[in-house]
Amino acid sequence: MANETAATYDNYIQGEWKASEGGTQPSISPANRDEIVGLIPNSVKADLDAAAAAAKAAQRAWRKLAGSQRGALLFKAADIIESRMAEIGEAMTREMGKTLPEAKGETARGVAILRYYAGEGMRKVGDVIPSTDADAFMYTTRTPLGTVGVISPWNFPVAIPIWKIAPALIYGNTVVWKPATETAVTAAKVMQCFHDAGFPAGVLNMVIGSGSVIGQGIAEHADINGITFTGSNGVGKRVGQAALARGAKYQLEMGGKNPIIIAEDADLELAVDATISGGLKSTGQKCTATSRVIVVKGIYEAFKARLVEKVSELKVGDGLAGDTWLGPCANEAQMETVLSYVNKGIEEGAVLLHGGKRLESGELSRGFYVEPAIFDKVASNMAIAQEEIFGPVLALIEARDIDEAIELANDTEYGLSASIYTRDIGNVMSFVQDMEAGLVRVNAETAGVELQAPFGGM
Ligand code: NAP
Ligand code: MG
Repeated sequence: MANETAATYDNYIQGEWKASEGGTQPSISPANRDEIVGLIPNSVKADLDAAAAAAKAAQRAWRKLAGSQRGALLFKAADIIESRMAEIGEAMTREMGKTLPEAKGETARGVAILRYYAGEGMRKVGDVIPSTDADAFMYTTRTPLGTVGVISPWNFPVAIPIWKIAPALIYGNTVVWKPATETAVTAAKVMQCFHDAGFPAGVLNMVIGSGSVIGQGIAEHADINGITFTGSNGVGKRVGQAALARGAKYQLEMGGKNPIIIAEDADLELAVDATISGGLKSTGQKCTATSRVIVVKGIYEAFKARLVEKVSELKVGDGLAGDTWLGPCANEAQMETVLSYVNKGIEEGAVLLHGGKRLESGELSRGFYVEPAIFDKVASNMAIAQEEIFGPVLALIEARDIDEAIELANDTEYGLSASIYTRDIGNVMSFVQDMEAGLVRVNAETAGVELQAPFGGM
C-alpha cells in the first residue's frame, strides 16, 4: 500500500494515549483506497475493561465539581476544536468522504453543541414540590448515572459523539466512547482536543475497535451504567436488548426512510433544491436523508424533469477538491449496498431515470464513487421505497392527491423525519397532524436538525 508514513493513533485511557494489545489496522480513504489515513487500534476486551475502570474511578471527584466547573472545561474543549477546525475537517473528509465544507460545518456544529451543554452546567436541575407535611422540604434533582458508554456512527463522526458526550459529562457522568472504526482518526483528533482542554484523567476515555467486541462489550459491561447509541436499526436493537438484560439505561437513535411530499402548489425550484440537498448531501448518508420523493400528480412531470436536469449537473469527486458537490460512499461495503439496491430497484420494475452506476474514469477508479440515482415509477412496497439504503438514491412515487401522499409517506416502518413543500395552509395542517415522524418540516428539507431541539423518531 501507499503512504507508509501514516501516523498511528491509540486508545485514550486514564488521561493517556495507550496502544492496544490487539495491534493496529488501517483506516483508508474512500476517495482513494490506496491512501491510509492512519493506523488505528483493533482493541480487545482488556482495553475496554481498563477504560471502564478508569471511568469508574473518576466518577466521585467529577460529580462533586460544580456544574459551572465542568462547563468551563467543555467551553475550553470547544475553543480548541474551533481552532483546529481545518485539521479535523480534513481528517473527516479523507476518512469518510464528505466534502470539506460539510466536514468543517459539522465540526463547527460540534463546537456549538459543546457550548450549549457547557451552559447547561448553570441551569436548574430540579423542582421544589410542596409537601403535605408543613415542616418537610421536598424536591427533585438530577443525579449522574455513573459511567455512560457512547457508541457512535461514522456518518457524523464529530457532531454525533459530541451530542452524546457533552450532556453526559456536564451532568457529572464519566464516559467510555467507542467511535465508529471507519472514522477513528477523526475521533482521535477530537479526543486530543478534550485532552488538551485539561479534563481530569479517566473522565473521558476512548476505545477504538470493532463493534462486535468493543461495542457489544460496552452494552454488556457491568461497570457501564448507561448507553447512548446511534447507528443502524439492527445493531441498535441488539445493544438495547443487552442493556435491558442487565437493567442499564439506554438510548437508541437509528435509521430513517424519510419522505418529502411535493404538493401541486409547491414552489418547484425550492422543492427540487430541497430534494437534492436533503437526499444527496453527504452522499445520502444521513439518518434524516430524503429517500422517498412523493409527488402529487399535477406537478409530477415538471418536478421530475427539473430534478433530473439539476442532479445531472452535480459534480461527483474527491471531497477535498474545491469543485466537488458529492463525495464517494464512505467505504466499499456501503458502495456495494447502494449498487445492489439500484439493481433491486430495476428488478422490481422501477425505472432508472438517471445515474446509479459506479464512476470509474481516471482518478475516480480508486475510490467508491456512485453517480446519484433517480428512480421513476416506484411503488411504495418496493425495497427501494421501504429499506434504508444510506446512499445517493432517490425514489419518485406518484400520488393522486395530498391525502394519498400523506398515506404513502406513512407507509413505512421508519418515522424519523419528513417534509412537505406546499403553500396551502390546509396541506400543512394535515401533514403536521397526520405524519408519523419524530420531526416534521414545512418548506424545508428532511435533513437539518437544530441542536437545541429534541431529536428522535417514532
Ligand atoms: P452501525 O453499523 O449500526 O454502527 C454504529 C456503531 O455501532 C459503530 O460504532 C459500530 O462499530 C457499532 N457496532 C457495530 N456492531 C455492533 C454490535 N454488535 N454491538 C455494539 N455496537 C456495534 O451503523 P453505521 O453504519 O455506522 O451508521 C449508519 C446508520 O446510523 C444508519 O442506519 C443511520 O440511519 C444511522 N444514524 C442514525 C442517526 C440518528 O440520530 N437517528 C444519526 C446518524 C446515523 P464499528 O464502526 O466498529 O462497526
Ligand atoms: Mg475510511
